[in-house]
Amino acid sequence: MSLRPRWVATVATLALITASVSVPAQAAPAAAPPSVTLNAGETALIRFRLADEEALRRLVAQGADLAARPRTQQGAVLVDMVVDDRQFATLTGQGAVPVQVIQRESPGGAQRSAKVAVQADTLHFLQAYWWTTAGRTFVQTQVATTSSDDPDVEITVTWRTADGATGSFPLVRFEDAGEYQYHYALPQPLPAKPVQVTATSSLGGTARPATPAAWPGAAPPAPPSGYQKDFIDAYMTPVDVRARIKRLGRQYPALVDVINLPNRTQGYRRTAVAYLGDPNAAAVVVESVRFGAQSMNGVQVRTVDPGRANRPLAATYRDRVLTVRLATDAGGKVISTTDDVAAFLTARYPQQFRAFVEAGSAGLPMPIAGPARLDDGLKGTEVPTGPWTVQALRIGKVRDGSKPGVLAYSQEHAREWATPLVTLEFAERLLANYATDPATRELVDSADVFVIPTVNPDGANYSFNDFNFQRKNLVNHCAGASRDPRNRDSWGVDVNRNYTVGSYFDGYVGGSSNCLSGTYAGTAELSEAESRNVIALAQAHPNIGLAMNVHSYGGYFMWPPGAYRADGRVTLPRPSIDESKFFLDSARRIVGAISAERGTVTWPSYTGPVADVLYSAAGNSADQLYYELGIDAWDFEVGNDRWNEATQQWEGVGFQPPFDEAHAEAQEYAGGLVELVRVARDKAATEQ
Ligand SMILES: [Zn+2]
Repeated sequence: MSLRPRWVATVATLALITASVSVPAQAAPAAAPPSVTLNAGETALIRFRLADEEALRRLVAQGADLAARPRTQQGAVLVDMVVDDRQFATLTGQGAVPVQVIQRESPGGAQRSAKVAVQADTLHFLQAYWWTTAGRTFVQTQVATTSSDDPDVEITVTWRTADGATGSFPLVRFEDAGEYQYHYALPQPLPAKPVQVTATSSLGGTARPATPAAWPGAAPPAPPSGYQKDFIDAYMTPVDVRARIKRLGRQYPALVDVINLPNRTQGYRRTAVAYLGDPNAAAVVVESVRFGAQSMNGVQVRTVDPGRANRPLAATYRDRVLTVRLATDAGGKVISTTDDVAAFLTARYPQQFRAFVEAGSAGLPMPIAGPARLDDGLKGTEVPTGPWTVQALRIGKVRDGSKPGVLAYSQEHAREWATPLVTLEFAERLLANYATDPATRELVDSADVFVIPTVNPDGANYSFNDFNFQRKNLVNHCAGASRDPRNRDSWGVDVNRNYTVGSYFDGYVGGSSNCLSGTYAGTAELSEAESRNVIALAQAHPNIGLAMNVHSYGGYFMWPPGAYRADGRVTLPRPSIDESKFFLDSARRIVGAISAERGTVTWPSYTGPVADVLYSAAGNSADQLYYELGIDAWDFEVGNDRWNEATQQWEGVGFQPPFDEAHAEAQEYAGGLVELVRVARDKAATEQ
C-alpha cells in the first residue's frame, strides 16, 4: 500500500481544479475517515477504500466476499465487502480504510513512477449521458486516452449548460484485471441539463466536444388508470413465498401453473456437533453423520476414565449417550490422545459419527469431558426441516410452448431479501391486471412467463433465522477441520458460481475452490440442486428466449460475457454487434421502465456486460443460459446507490435495507420485468 503519496497528490490536484472553475465542482470535501470498529465475532457489510487495483485483485484471488462493484473514486478503489472482525483487522492492517458501515449483522500495487510524459495524448468520449432524478440533474462520462499505458494521466471533464453555467470534475483511471479500460467518474450533480462536455488531459490532449445524450432515453407506456400494483407489504421468507405461490395458483387457475422443480434441496438442516473437551485447550469435535433434525440433536457424548489399569480405548453408544472409555497404562494413568479418540470414533461408528481434532489440539492428552450435547445450531423454529421443493410459477394464457418464453429468477444468493419481492410483485401485476387492463391481457396472452422467486430457499431460511449475511446454500462440502462449527457461517456453495460455462473449473476468474470462501464454486459444475433446477427449467421449455437473474444490490443491468480468464483478461466470446445492440437497446427500455417508479436511474456505467461493469463471475447462471441454451440472459442488481444531497455522496443501500427501501426496489424493478416481457413480445414479432 505504497500509494499514499500519490493519493495526497490527487487530492491536491482536485483542490486546484475546484479552485479554477467558475462554478465549483461539487466534489465532497475530503472528510476524515469515520471511526469504524467491529466487536469480537461481529460481521458487517462495509464500504472500504483500497489503496489500489492491486489490492483489489488480491482480494478477488483470495475469494473475498465482494458485495458490489469496486467503484473508483478520487484516486482509490471503493469496494463493499462482508467481513468479520478478524478479516476487518487484516484489511485495515493492510491499509484499507472503512468509509461506510452499510449494514451490521442482526442480533441473532506496485508503486507507480511519477515520471512526466511529454507527448500529448488524444482523448475520446466513449459515453456522455445526462438525466434527472428527484429534481437533481446528473452527468456521467467515460473518456479513453491513447496514452493507455501511462497510469499518471489525469483527465478533467468540463461541462456547460444552456445558460452558460460551467464546471469541471476529474475522472479516474479504471483498470480491470490489470488492463486499462477508460477514465470515468461517478455521476456528477449539475445545476441543469448539460449541453456540452469537453475533456482535457494532463498530457495536453483534448477530446472533440460532445453533446451529452439523455439517458436512458426510453419510457414505458403509461399504465391505465386503475392499474394494480403494490402486492408486497413485508420481507418474505421461503415459507411466505411458498404460500404466495400456492395462493396465486388457486386464484388464477386459467393463467397459472405451479411447477415443482425436479431437484429437491438439502433443506434447512445441518449435522449436529459438540466439542468434547475445551476448544481453547484440548478438544475433539464430534459430529453426527445424519442431520441434527434426524434425531441426532441432543445426543450426548462424554469421555470417562475407566478407573482400571491397562484398558484399551473403547466406547459404547446406547440410549442416545456416546461414552468413550479412555485407554490406560499399567499404572492406571489415562494415555489416550485427542488424535486417538478422533480416529477411533470415526472408525468405530461410521454410520453414526465422525470426529476430528480441534485446531491446536493435535497430539494433546484427551481430557475427561462431557457430557456434551450434539446440536445442529439452527435457530429457526418455524422452518420445515425436510428437503425443500423449489417452485416456479408459469404465467400465460397459452402455456403449451408456442409463445415466446421469459424466465425471471431470484435469490440465488440467500441474503438478497429484496429480490423475491421483485419477482413476486412482477408476477402478481401480470395476473391482477389481466381482467381489467387490455394491455396487460394482450401481453399475457402473447407470452409464456416463468418465475422462480427463491432459487436458494435453504440459504434464505438460514439468512432469516441464523446469519443474515448468508450468501450461499446450506450444503457443507468441507472436510476435516474446516467442519469446525466456528466456521458455520462460512459453509455452503455459491449457487451463482456453480454453472457450467466460463466456470472456475474451466479456469475463469471469480470463483473459488475454498469451501469457506464466499464464492465457493462447489465440488463440480452443477454439483448443487439449486443450480440444476434453473437449468432444468430452461431446458424443459425451449421457448424461453429471454431470462433475467435478479440479484441485489448496487443498481446494475448486465449481460454476457460474465467471466474472463486471469491471463490477459480473455472474456467469454463477445456477443455479435447486432446482439450487443439488442442488449443495449432493450436495456435502455427496461432502465426507463425502472425509473418510471420513483426516478431511480441505473447508471450508464453500470449498464453493460457483467465482466466489464461488475466483475468476473466464473460459472454464473446467465452465461450458461446464453452460451449453452441460446437465451438472451440478463442480470439485475436491484438497490441502486442513493444520492445524499447533504454529503454530496452516493450511498449504498445494502442487502436488507429498511423495508420501505426494499419495497420501493420491488416496485421499480417489477416494472422493469414487465418491460422485459414487452421486449420479448416485440422481438418475437420482428422475427416472424
Ligand atoms: Zn447476488
